[in-house]
Amino acid sequence: SLEARALSAWFGRRKVLDRVSLTMPAATVTALIGPSGCGKSTFLRMLNRMHESVPSAKLAGEVLLAGHDIYEPGERVTHTRKRIGMVFQKPNPFPAMSIADNVTAGLKLTGTRVSRSAKADLIERCLSRAGLWDEVKDRLSSPGSALSGGQQQRLCIARSLAVEPEVLLMDEPCSALDPTSTYRIEQTIHELAPEVTIVIVTHNMQQAARVSQQCAFFLASQGTPGVIVESGDTNQIFTNPGDERTADYVNGRF
Ligand code: ATP
Ligand code: MG
Repeated sequence: SLEARALSAWFGRRKVLDRVSLTMPAATVTALIGPSGCGKSTFLRMLNRMHESVPSAKLAGEVLLAGHDIYEPGERVTHTRKRIGMVFQKPNPFPAMSIADNVTAGLKLTGTRVSRSAKADLIERCLSRAGLWDEVKDRLSSPGSALSGGQQQRLCIARSLAVEPEVLLMDEPCSALDPTSTYRIEQTIHELAPEVTIVIVTHNMQQAARVSQQCAFFLASQGTPGVIVESGDTNQIFTNPGDERTADYVNGRF
């Protein structure tokens, strides 16, 4: 499981998250929902130290992966990123690299060595799991840039799976995609969920209801830092939320 404990975040002097705590159980899909600017992406990025590329970003709190704080001194960021993969809203395959090499690109970063035949198997397996194999199996040496946006996103998912992460973070992975790619990615999420802990940010309430078992509603009211108003079983959040603001949001009254 992955657990955020009292996570606060600042950009410069501006506080954007205030002591957010959330447990994301293993083998569960957690959806993060809430209005624009409430800190969902910031929270997600802090779950695998992605914010460290922003110099003004500061954090307080703990992120426990299987009980171990990823921010403990001496924890290596490459090690964390191998265990916690991430997929962004905008697909970002290596454009000049072949489809096959894109899938295995992460192995180099993590120093994982595999034989040539194991590599071919891995490429097929990851592309299949990402719902892309049938569309690309005859052109694995084409560049990543030759694919459509939706295919590129599935390629990015295949790439993130190649290092066998324990957790997959997805920030609005389908928001710019065609219905077929969206459907395939949701299928992938369903298939992965027994093995991989998944956290997905989405503005699509139907999607949150379809893919997640747990839901967390983020809100930042009038310039205050983002907090989780409520989290819990997805069915309950949608049908019988404990907070009026959650009800308003999930019913589109925000
Ligand atoms: P959306 O649904 O629109 O993607 P979000 O919930 O993901 O929104 P964040 O992107 O986490 O929101 O932003 C939270 C707050 O942090 C916002 O007020 C935003 O302006 C601020 N913020 C985000 N990234 C940066 C940055 N790199 N530098 C400064 N402020 C930032
Ligand atoms: Mg965002």
